[in-house]
Amino acid sequence: MPFKSVQPEDLFECQKCGDCCKGFGGTYVTQADIENIAQFIGTRPDTFVRDFCQLSGGLPVLAQKKDQFCVFWDDEKLCTIHPVKPRMCKAWPFIESVMIDPANWEIMSGACPGIRTDYPLKVVQKCIKKILSDNRQAKE
Ligand code: SF4
Repeated sequence: MPFKSVQPEDLFECQKCGDCCKGFGGTYVTQADIENIAQFIGTRPDTFVRDFCQLSGGLPVLAQKKDQFCVFWDDEKLCTIHPVKPRMCKAWPFIESVMIDPANWEIMSGACPGIRTDYPLKVVQKCIKKILSDNRQAKE
């Protein structure tokens, strides 16, 4: 396949393993995330933050269960807030940090079997740059 026609789905296909939903402090929630999730689960934003978040660097992140999975992960149903999952979860793995350092793509692939590493990192970055630009335009 010519590299210039590479699409996001060529670079990543979710394997539904849940590995990206495990581990401390990764999933920051924006104010919009907080409001959307609170509404989805039928509670108030402040109650959601109190009951389902922890603080990391002073900012709310989704809390974890004892098994270290996100509080909203279910082994059978997978993400139980999928329609309103945080911006960070929706963006994975096309995230800004790969633009800052393309080596992050390789590091992330070590924890995510859906990420392909057989494309040049410049091609990966070009694809991510377009996604980030499209997302910015969609917000304007
Ligand atoms: S909100 Fe959903 S996708 Fe995001 S970490 Fe939790 S279970 Fe995973």
